[in-house]
This record gives sequence, structure tokens and C-alpha cells, in this order.
Amino acid sequence: MDIVETVRTELRAAADTFSIGKSERGNDILCAHCGGHGGRQIIITAGIHARECYTAFVALRQIRDYNIRGDDGAYIIPLVNPDGARFFESGDAQGSEILGAYAGEYRKWKANASGVDLNCNFDANWGMGALNKRYVGASDYIGAYPFCAAESMALKLFTERVMPSATVSYHCMGGELYWEFFQRGAARRRDEAFAAAVARKIGVKKVDGHLDSAGGYKDWCVQRLGIPAVTVELIKSGSHPFCAADFAPDVEANADLPAFIFDLLNERS
Ligand SMILES: [Zn+2]
Repeated sequence: MDIVETVRTELRAAADTFSIGKSERGNDILCAHCGGHGGRQIIITAGIHARECYTAFVALRQIRDYNIRGDDGAYIIPLVNPDGARFFESGDAQGSEILGAYAGEYRKWKANASGVDLNCNFDANWGMGALNKRYVGASDYIGAYPFCAAESMALKLFTERVMPSATVSYHCMGGELYWEFFQRGAARRRDEAFAAAVARKIGVKKVDGHLDSAGGYKDWCVQRLGIPAVTVELIKSGSHPFCAADFAPDVEANADLPAFIFDLLNERS
């Protein structure tokens, strides 16, 4: 069973599952809602980069283990980029001309089926990142305009509908957590405290500075929604491509992160 099918099968068994939209090749981008609706909501995403698709297992475990009572709730999206994940796993171009043209690069693919790097396609200093590219490829292509990709647009619209109190995005690798994107004053102090607590909880290193990042989901959440948002780079060392088993320690360390985040957010209020 490939990762797209694994996510579909597991989420079908979860209580409250729905699609936030379709990928460019017509795959549903599935989301599970855990917990209540009346309190604070958070959004957790994984698998926005194709070759990092096994970060989905961290999200699937959080869904499976979720047992928090009360009004707070978590929207968990294990695989934002299903087309890219399928390409990474199998080399299957799924009828995409671009994937077909880059068939030799499938094991290092990060982008979607149109060669757009979804985590460079958000409207937050779009196109200003140090590594940004203006041509299609395995990674770092910003797209023709912000949200030109079906997947980044779906995630934007969904996030605006939820208006979460915080977001967490899983990537790999590095064993690090990024949180900064030009915040100032009280917002900066709040977000740094949030980042430090989450980093300590899951055993990764908090890295300060905006690091020439631009156009990412975390960047957009910070800049446009004004909420704490973190990018977590799982797996401390090694090299791509990783296999599912490589994520086992991170799956354990992150299993109860939603509960921890609700405690943090509610302490603050
Ligand atoms: Zn990534």
C-alpha cells in the first residue's frame, strides 16, 4: 500500500474525516478533525514536500492517539501533497507531463505534479527566499504567482476558514524547529516562547532568525494570520531519501503534541 492509500485507509477509520480540496492530479487532500469545535483550534500539516511524505506517520499517530476531552480541537492533514508523494515513492507520473519529464528525479522530488514547491507558493514575501527558483523542478520553484498550485490554495482557504490559534508543519530533515518570520514586540516574545516549549517537548533544536525563508506555510501563518506557527524538521541526521521506519522515534516523540499545545495556548490566555 502506498502512502496515499495508507492515509486514505487510516483516515476513513477516523471519526471526522473530510477533504480540504483536490490535488492537481485529482487526489483528495484529507483532513481529520479531532476533539471539540467550541474552543481553540490548531492545524497540523505533514507531507507538503514529496520526499518528506513519511512525516505523514507522525500525523497519523496523533490522530490515532487523540483522546483529549473538551472544546479544543485539532485539524490534522497528514499528506498535503499526495501527487508528489506518489511520484517520490513509485516514479509514477500520473499523467503529468512535468513529472514525466523529470522521471529521473523522483527520489529527490519535493514539489507537486506541476513542479511547484508548495512551501514556496504562499503569499508571504513570495519569491524573496534565498533558495527560490523561477523555473520548474524538483524543489524551490515558487510558481507563476502565489497560490497558483491547487494544494497551496486549498490549504490557504481551509486555514482562513478555521482561523487556527497555532499551526505546526512537519518536514525533514535536521532535528530543528523554525518559528521566526519578522515578528516584533509582544508577538515575537509570544511566538518564541511557544517555539521553545514545543521544541523542548519533542526534542528538537529551536533555531532563531528568519533564515531567508519566504513563501512558506509557516511564514504565511505568522505574517498574514498573526499566530504562532512552526516548521519542524524531523530526523536529526542522514540523507534523503528516508524510509518510513526512519521516522519511528519522531512518531513517538510527537504523539501527544496536540494536548501539549492546547495546554500552552490555554496557559497563555
Ligand atoms: Zn520540507
